[in-house]
Amino acid sequence: METGKTFYITTPIYYPSDNLHIGHAYTTVAADAMARYKRLTGYDVRFLTGSDEHGQKIERAAREKGQTPKEYVDRIVAGFQHLWRSLNISNDDFIRTTEDRHKRVVQQIFQQLYDQGDIYKAGYEGWYCTPCETFWTEGRLAEGNCPDCGRPVELVREESYFFKMSKYAHRLLKHIEDNPDFIQPVSRRNEMVSFIKSGLEDLCVSRTTFDWGIPVPFDKKHVIYVWVDALTNYISALGFGRDNDSLYLRYWPADIHLMAKDIVRFHTVIWPIILMAAGLPLPRQVVGHGFLLLEGGKMSKSKGNVIDPLVLIDKYGVDAVRYYLLREMPPGIDVYYSEEALVHRVNQDLANDLGNLFNRSCAMANKYFQGELQAPGAPEGPDEELLELAAETPPMVEELMERRDPASALAAILRLVGRANKYLEETAPWTLAKDPEKKDRLYTVLYNVAEVLRLATVMITPFTPGLPPRAWPLLGLEDRPDLHTWASLKWGGIPAGTVLKKGEPLFPRIDTASLGDE
Ligand SMILES: [Zn+2]
Repeated sequence: METGKTFYITTPIYYPSDNLHIGHAYTTVAADAMARYKRLTGYDVRFLTGSDEHGQKIERAAREKGQTPKEYVDRIVAGFQHLWRSLNISNDDFIRTTEDRHKRVVQQIFQQLYDQGDIYKAGYEGWYCTPCETFWTEGRLAEGNCPDCGRPVELVREESYFFKMSKYAHRLLKHIEDNPDFIQPVSRRNEMVSFIKSGLEDLCVSRTTFDWGIPVPFDKKHVIYVWVDALTNYISALGFGRDNDSLYLRYWPADIHLMAKDIVRFHTVIWPIILMAAGLPLPRQVVGHGFLLLEGGKMSKSKGNVIDPLVLIDKYGVDAVRYYLLREMPPGIDVYYSEEALVHRVNQDLANDLGNLFNRSCAMANKYFQGELQAPGAPEGPDEELLELAAETPPMVEELMERRDPASALAAILRLVGRANKYLEETAPWTLAKDPEKKDRLYTVLYNVAEVLRLATVMITPFTPGLPPRAWPLLGLEDRPDLHTWASLKWGGIPAGTVLKKGEPLFPRIDTASLGDE
């Protein structure tokens, strides 16, 4: 394992106005797969998620329930944390913006920007969308409503502090041009470049019409308004500005901020400009993925078309849910969610292709030679093609993960599994077993398939981490962690004498009759 290679990945901090849905689950599972993959390849990984707990919408929702805002967010955030445990998320930290460790950093940065003249006070009148926590100028409204969500907006007049975004627009454009990978995918980058070129307005960064926020340190009538508060989580969680800032020094700048495409703008315009103004390095990459759509459009509470990931986990298991989400979302593209597609995909790939290859190989090895593998003979016939693909697949998966494309990485792993299934048909061990002369060939064939199963198990680990603990005992390798590493992905790792076990099916088929019964 190389040392000194660090990797810092974040999800957005989610807003606890309600429980999370399958779209949020996708973002977090995708970040988790990337974090696990990087750990497996030897990186020192930091993986952060959390919750964005301030704002007028929370204050109002709590009041309606007769709770304090803190009581209200505590309950919902406990639900977030339960969901992430249920989805096998391996985050190293969970930041809440109501924590002191966060609030102090936000105030410190706000003070710095004010002291250097990048934040100033001015009268303000604008149209405010509470659900989106966004101000709009008259000209940006869509038929008098919020141009993002279509809901009614309120006219707000108040004194506010403003952040001089416009001052940094030129520097930001240059940064985006000089760093072609900064915003991914490219379609998102093009959108952001034209957005910045259309002119940046100074940003309202404080409010006086509600209290549920971090006070402006030098003017307690104001609370710091959403973006400076929320975005700063990515460094406050690392201890930026504190006596012990070793995590900040080790992990910042972030390697990936991962999120759905609707908040890419805040992360590629507002956040970099806050960092530039504060004199801090910018994140290396911001990745915006597409939406998981339902018939009838984007999932939202107000449309009543929300899919609860906990229900799916109960029904199909966490690995099935993770596999479906990761396999079905190509980079940057919107995808329609359907439970039928989940069941079909999981049955096809995990039960039929991977699960059956395990079951057949282990059963044959036990039937023909009590499961005990022997060293394989020289490659012949279809061996060559199988070994070639086995050698090509790990670097292919590496390249696809670097392109932030877990869906294609999984497709590549399953292509190798599919090739091994075809190899069994071509070599027909059940025929070889009838001829004592062909005993060596029989050993070779089943060794080769077992080795493909080992490689596939290692490679699929970041995506479906619950699967390898069931797979290793079938391969007789549960006590060989050295053969579970990314570095072990070279042909011929399984030692002669390893005993394959017959066991429960690795991944039983989902009965399609279960579809639709809640
Ligand atoms: Zn809105």
